[in-house]
Formats: sequence, C-alpha cells, structure tokens
Amino acid sequence: MKAAVVNEFHQQLEIKDVPVPEIGHGEVLVKIKACGVCHTDLHAAHGDWPVKPKLPLIPGHEGVGEIVALGEGVTSLKLGDRVGIPWLYSACGECDYCLTGWETLCKNQLNAGYSVDGGYAEYCKAPAAYVAKIPDSLSYVDAAPIFCAGVTTYKALKVTGAKPGEWVAIYGIGGLGHVALQYAKAMGYHVAAVDIHDDKLELAMALGADLTVNGMKEDPAEAIEREIGGAHAAISVAVTPKAFEQAYRSVRRGGTLVVVGLPNADLPIPIFDTVLNGVTVKGSIVGSRKDLQEALDFAARGKVKTNIETQSLDRINEVFDRLQKGQVNGRVVLTLD
Ligand code: NAD
Ligand code: ZN
Ligand code: ZN
Repeated sequence: MKAAVVNEFHQQLEIKDVPVPEIGHGEVLVKIKACGVCHTDLHAAHGDWPVKPKLPLIPGHEGVGEIVALGEGVTSLKLGDRVGIPWLYSACGECDYCLTGWETLCKNQLNAGYSVDGGYAEYCKAPAAYVAKIPDSLSYVDAAPIFCAGVTTYKALKVTGAKPGEWVAIYGIGGLGHVALQYAKAMGYHVAAVDIHDDKLELAMALGADLTVNGMKEDPAEAIEREIGGAHAAISVAVTPKAFEQAYRSVRRGGTLVVVGLPNADLPIPIFDTVLNGVTVKGSIVGSRKDLQEALDFAARGKVKTNIETQSLDRINEVFDRLQKGQVNGRVVLTLD
C-alpha cells in the first residue's frame, strides 16, 4: 500500500510502498478514505516533544474510512462500517483513569500516528473498541478533522467550566481554533478570537466570533480586558509560547486557562496574580470515546463545519511546509481515493 513515512526527524516524508498491516484479535482493517493533517503530525515529524514517536512512522490521527477486514472476536462492528481512528488508539481499560472516564490519561495508551502507525496510508489497522463510527450524514472528508481538532476543542471547552453566555477567548485560529470557535458558539459562549494572521481572523468573523484581535497589532490581553473586562476562560491552541502567556493574562478573576497547543516550551505562571485572582490553569489532551461521539454529533447536526482544503497524499511535504508557516486557513484533509 502507499503511505507517507517519516524516516528521520526534520526530513521530508517519503511516499513509498509498505505492507498492508496484518490484523490480530479484536482489530479491524480500515481502508482509509481521508485523513486530516494536524499540527501534531508536524511536531511528530520534527521530534519536537520530550517523548519521541516511533521511527519509521506513518503519521495521522484523523484517519477515516471503511472497514474491509475484521479480526477474530470483533462483534461490535461489521464489514463496510464507516469509522475513524483517533489519537487515543487504545488504552488499558483497567486503570483508575480508564475506569473513571479519563482514558485519555491512561499510562498504557497507544497513540495513532505517533506510537503506532496512523492514517497517512491506504490502510490502517486499529482495535475495534477504540474506533468511532461516523454518523451517516457526515462525509468522510468532513468527519476526519472531528477525530482530533473537533473532539480536542470540544473537550477543552467542557473543562473550562465556563457557563453559556460567558466569554471564552480562543488563541490560535488554526485547524483546532476555528473548530473550537464553532463548538463554543454552539455551546452558547461569546467568543474572542486571537491570531496573528488577518485571514484567520476573517474566517473567525465569518464563523461568528464576537471579538477578534490580531496579536501582532496589539496586546490581545489588554484588548480583551478593555472590551469585555477579561474572559471567563481562555483556550490556547496556538503554536507559539507567547500566545499562552497572553491567554493567561486575558482571563478575568476566577477564570480558567486551558492549555491545549503543544509548543515545546515553558509557561511561566506568576504566583501572586494566580493566587490573588483565583485563576485556574489546566491542560487538556484530546477527549474520550464518549467525548468523540458527542463531538461527531455536533458536526452531524451541522453545528460545526471544518473549513477544509483537500490535497492528495503525495503533497504532504508541501502541506507541512505551509502549516509550519501558518499558511493553512482551516484544515488540510488528505484524500486517498
Ligand atoms: P495550526 O497550525 O492549524 O494552528 C495554529 C494557529 O496558531 C495558527 O492559526 C497560527 O496562526 C496561530 N498562532 C501562532 N502564533 C500565534 C500567536 N502568537 N497568537 C495567536 N495565534 C498564533 O495547528 P493545529 O493543528 O490547530 O494545532 C495547534 C496545536 O495544538 C499544536 O501544537 C498541536 O500539536 C496541538 N494539539 C494539541 C492537542 C491536545 O489534545 N492537547 C490535540 C491536537 C493538537
Ligand atoms: Zn491532532
Ligand atoms: Zn488505563
């Protein structure tokens, strides 16, 4: 099968022929139809994070397609089912985290396109218990980004603890951010959108942002304080550390900063302000299988629609280059048909 493979960090991906994965007990083989390109895939290809991916690696954790083979013991799915393979490729199912709905924190999890091969390929295998079915009304291309950008931002909004009618500031209106904005509106929040590119802020406005700020032209935290007295919650899905520090400062007293973007950097948090202002800072990593079902349902009902540019798998190096430079407005989805 054809696949895009990371052989070495910081080198171009190689489009090459590799064996179709062999499925084992409890696994399904998915003929991939589409796979979104997440900035995480770029971090993986660069070896940016303290924990490195396997090499060689087939990236991709927004892979969706049709089940073409079933391993022994699979009863929950059938041939022809439309499914997606998320970042949470599998978890142990037995630890405290798994048992309490926090399988995303399981220490024995595997991650698609990172610790195991993912969706930048014609076929991908996955455990039946951890793939999610795609609602009928959602096309493969529209479904793909929900498997990471969608579920991650939906979950991040949930853990802000903000109530409908309150303000959420979203830093980074990229693949995740422009989807976050739509979940936020659908969940009843007012949204302040921050980016450093005007075309992304134009997209934010078209998607219903109530306030937009270009972080290159003014201090977003000051603008948010001036316009709305500070946000009840902020989510940073940006890829530069500066946005995180600004997002922290844009939260009002009693508010929460949710950290989602993953530049490999520190976030210095002032103790005095955090204490006196009663600010909460928390991290959020993707979402559980249940969160994913809910996130897909929003999309199936037309409440959330990713701004998608389709590209063929062969163009992946060019897509990575543009993503690195902030030149993708929305999400690129690779199509494999
Ligand atoms: P993206 O490249 O599509 O979007 C990043 C956006 O940040 C761009 O619009 C860019 O213009 C903007 N940006 C850059 N600097 C900024 C600044 N100073 N202020 C405001 N905006 C700024 O990337 P993506 O696919 O949306 O992923 C974003 C980050 O989230 C990546 O680091 C990725 O690894 C991480 N991520 C985390 C999770 C999780 O579960 N925590 C899941 C998926 C992705
Ligand atoms: Zn992702
Ligand atoms: Zn577990």
